[in-house]
Amino acid sequence: MATEWVVRDEKEENVFWPSSEMKKRAWVSDEKIYDDAKKDQIKFWEKLAEDGLVWFKKWDKAYVWEKPYFKWFVNGELNACYNCVDRHVKTWRRNKAAIIWVPEPIDEDVKVLTYYDLYREVNRFANALKKLGVKKGDRVVIYLPMIPQVQIAMLACARIGAIHSVVFSAFSAESLKQRIEDSEAKVLITADGYYRRGKIIDLKRNADSAVQGTTIKNVIVVRRIGNDINMVKGRDYFWDEIVKECDGYCEAEKMKSQDILFILYTSGTTGKPKGIIHDTGGYLTQAHWTAKWDFDLHDDDVFWCTADIGWVTGHTYACYGPLSNGATLLVYEGAPDYPDIGRWWKIIEEFGVTTFYTAPTAIRMFIRYGEDLFKRYDLSSLRILGTVGEPIDTDAWLWYFKNIGGCRCPIIDTWWQTETGGTLINSLPGIGPFKPTFAGKSFPGTVHTVVDEDGNELGPGEVGYLVQKPPFAPGLLHGVWKNEKKYIEEYWEKFNFRYYYTSDGAYYDEDGNFRLTGRVDDVMKVAGHRLSSAEVEDAIDEHPNVRESAVVPRKDEIKGEVPIAFVVLKHGEGSDSLKKEIIDFVVKGIGPTAKPAEVYFVSDLPKTRSGKIMRRILRGIVNNKKELGNLTTLMNPECIDEIKVVVGYKPLE
Ligand code: ATP
Ligand code: MG
Repeated sequence: MATEWVVRDEKEENVFWPSSEMKKRAWVSDEKIYDDAKKDQIKFWEKLAEDGLVWFKKWDKAYVWEKPYFKWFVNGELNACYNCVDRHVKTWRRNKAAIIWVPEPIDEDVKVLTYYDLYREVNRFANALKKLGVKKGDRVVIYLPMIPQVQIAMLACARIGAIHSVVFSAFSAESLKQRIEDSEAKVLITADGYYRRGKIIDLKRNADSAVQGTTIKNVIVVRRIGNDINMVKGRDYFWDEIVKECDGYCEAEKMKSQDILFILYTSGTTGKPKGIIHDTGGYLTQAHWTAKWDFDLHDDDVFWCTADIGWVTGHTYACYGPLSNGATLLVYEGAPDYPDIGRWWKIIEEFGVTTFYTAPTAIRMFIRYGEDLFKRYDLSSLRILGTVGEPIDTDAWLWYFKNIGGCRCPIIDTWWQTETGGTLINSLPGIGPFKPTFAGKSFPGTVHTVVDEDGNELGPGEVGYLVQKPPFAPGLLHGVWKNEKKYIEEYWEKFNFRYYYTSDGAYYDEDGNFRLTGRVDDVMKVAGHRLSSAEVEDAIDEHPNVRESAVVPRKDEIKGEVPIAFVVLKHGEGSDSLKKEIIDFVVKGIGPTAKPAEVYFVSDLPKTRSGKIMRRILRGIVNNKKELGNLTTLMNPECIDEIKVVVGYKPLE
């Protein structure tokens, strides 16, 4: 019988707390940490930076705020790669598994890289980059699937001080080109191809068309599947060939804490993606400690973050965070449902995964397979579950808790953004509470609050803008690449530099646990009442036949705005009686003001490639907007046509 890590609250159904077992094991289990950290946030982070990372030179000043930029650990020197690799090969961890790589084809062998292996590979590849003339500050674009070379490439860039910019491998040539052009990169690292649901994806072909006419001088190609590709002489090199000629040691560059570690473009849920800049010292401090405390990482853990490396979640929790902690990271190349829907669970069983971090979109996908399927796998190694990316509704939370976590594991619902570099709002495994739809408290050493339009702080239960108070978290962005104006406008202007503005709505309960109510853009005002998309969706998702839903405001002459619901069913077709049932769920769950003016049944909702629902497109369609905005980040553009027909979209001139 696996250990119970959580216990049910005596008074509140569906609220859970850490068991005494969990508390005993957890790195953090005393909630005093929140108040202690608040007393002197700067000192608190200084101690974490010092305890968690290896610095070549200590900083002179811990925190400086010179509008519009703030800096952490000024003049401190370190290297992110050294912190993720070198430090471990000097300890007993040298032969510990750093990366367990599971290829998609089931007949191919799993690869295990120890920290020593990783060290050797990274050093050689760093020398290969140098050989191609890559210098400190140069940009390198990485366009790779989930294969170990992706972490090796990132760490090698960090080792020589080059700035990496990873582009999700499922992005089109056009999207890749835009990102290459914006970052003015010198080198592109890609692969011949990769497997997705058993099919070969010709990655190199995309890369070839993307680099045309750009600043890219060289392309390094990983031989992943050996498909036929075009290699341009003098421009393209195979990874295995170029590293063969390189030395096995490359000195890690001494980087200033403020030096840029990477640029990463946001998901583009609300508009055109922004090139978010992260520095070295602040980012790594937050990556290290959030990985350790949120997931209670210990040496015997096997940590699996399913996010693709193309997203910030992949950067921080499938690379820098766990590796800087000397953890064992599981990396899976392929699709969750290949060759069948049991693949992920089989991997958990086979490798004894203890910590599993995924997104609500994946959970919602699995819900439709019921409960029996999951009983076939032994998931008893799991200790902690995480989620990120979108608000998770009660139904999905409880399903995850029960079917995957066996009612033993806490669910850590982490709120954060590409901009924040690491998680910021979530419950900690040894402290709790674990409460569906509530992410939890601000990570120790950070302070968030909810404010009104004028920046006045609101009390418990009042919905408003989620903001962060100074001193700003060390992992927070250090600019938008080549676009200071955007940086100021998006994050600072709204509250005149008093707070970091998140663009998300939230409220907190009496105990200071935050509930995210969705994007600020998704808040509607119905007859004077503020209503958030997440709340209405949560009520709709309670209906047993609803798989997922999205609610957006439509302009209304009388009420100002009214909620419009889009619903994807688990099975069967929509009907008037089902519509009525769904509306009743909302009226009962929230009240008559939240009553959807219309319920549309659709087969799919528009999503970003990271699986987030793009409500702005639905909002545009229900309001007959001619311009539906940037669509390049859409995963499933084919669903738009159906939605337009169902709604009766007539674009206004
Ligand atoms: P863009 O900024 O280009 O529109 P994006 O905001 O989707 O794209 P990300 O940085 O990947 O890009 O996503 C961060 C956003 O995801 C948050 O601002 C929030 O809206 C949402 N989010 C992330 N985690 C959670 C969570 N646990 N609960 C609720 N919302 C979340
Ligand atoms: Mg955003």
